Amino acid sequence: EKLEADEYDIDKNLRSPICVVLGHVDTGKTLILDKIRKTRVQEGEAGGITQQIGATYFPIKSLQKLTNKVNKKHRYKHKLPGLLVIDTPGHETFTNLRSRGSNLCDVAILVVDIMHGIEPQTRESIDLLKKRKTPFVVALNKIDRLYDWNVTENMGFRDTFKNQKKHVQMEFQNRLNETILHFNQLGMNAELYFKNKSIKDTVSLVPTSAVTGEGIPDLLMYVVQLTQKYMIKKLTYLSTFQCTILEVKVIEGHGTTVDVILVNGKIHEGDRIITCGLNGPIDTTIRALLTPQPLKELRVKSEFIRHPVLHAAVGFKISAVGLENSIPGSEVFICGQRDDPEELKERAMKDLNSILNDVDTS
Ligand code: GDP
Repeated sequence: EKLEADEYDIDKNLRSPICVVLGHVDTGKTLILDKIRKTRVQEGEAGGITQQIGATYFPIKSLQKLTNKVNKKHRYKHKLPGLLVIDTPGHETFTNLRSRGSNLCDVAILVVDIMHGIEPQTRESIDLLKKRKTPFVVALNKIDRLYDWNVTENMGFRDTFKNQKKHVQMEFQNRLNETILHFNQLGMNAELYFKNKSIKDTVSLVPTSAVTGEGIPDLLMYVVQLTQKYMIKKLTYLSTFQCTILEVKVIEGHGTTVDVILVNGKIHEGDRIITCGLNGPIDTTIRALLTPQPLKELRVKSEFIRHPVLHAAVGFKISAVGLENSIPGSEVFICGQRDDPEELKERAMKDLNSILNDVDTS
């Protein structure tokens, strides 16, 4: 697939995939997210990369820029409008991104420390990903910690690897083999991503450093390819509306608000919404749909921008009366004129059991 740089073929019927980061504590999940976000700060909002609530949105144009270093010869044709990366890593976020049994997160990055291989929470993450059938790629992180590593900031992995001394390359190979063996012991095949000939049954490993940025372009490129290759069907807009609560927060001037991810469909200010509450269903009207101000406009008084309407996939804050008892992980329903509010309330409350079950089992 050798294609020209600006050859986008965005299908208007496709939404952006949603990506979360998982892994053992201290493997570098937060720093990888920071590294990706910093690129946003450096580029300003020029590339259209925007900070949302609980997520960072990368439109196709910015993704192409960020992956340029590893996409020179094989210009990859981007088909999806962008990528929504959830800002908070971890099990809990992943579990909250679900809707009664089905999974709302499209793809995951599982971070493994190359110096430690698979650790207890790595295994837990793998179990969660398998249970939810979420495709994932492994970031084999902290390659810069290999003794004598020669840093070239933000370089593609294969280029920076060529610059390493023989003994560094050998140490890398040894640690890589150990990690692959760990995966084998868990009954899974694993391979360096560019050697992986069978993405569907072999885990791809992308060596990265969240400190130097090496391998980060490869990681983003791989996530894009993975979603484009295998998920087009799932990423087609459905007429159904899907929205899930990630966090419940009290904000000065807004009272209790909920941070949500809209996975599918659109939502308007003034919509009547129904969701699950600790003491029964919550039935309220959206007062405001809020996202943060762009970076450039820090002087503006309000911390947030109000939107009359938002389209999936997007992370934002809902301000409304009566959200005090809402629960992270609950689905939000829109109650239109033709919907039966009682039926939606029943569906919303069914959520409570499945959320409590999820907490129990994960
Ligand atoms: P998390 O618990 O998985 O979110 O891990 P953090 O992102 O907080 O990172 C844990 C520690 O590892 C911090 O001290 C980071 O500075 C460090 N760290 C993370 N990624 C890298 C990396 O690629 N190279 C090096 N040398 N240190 C890293």
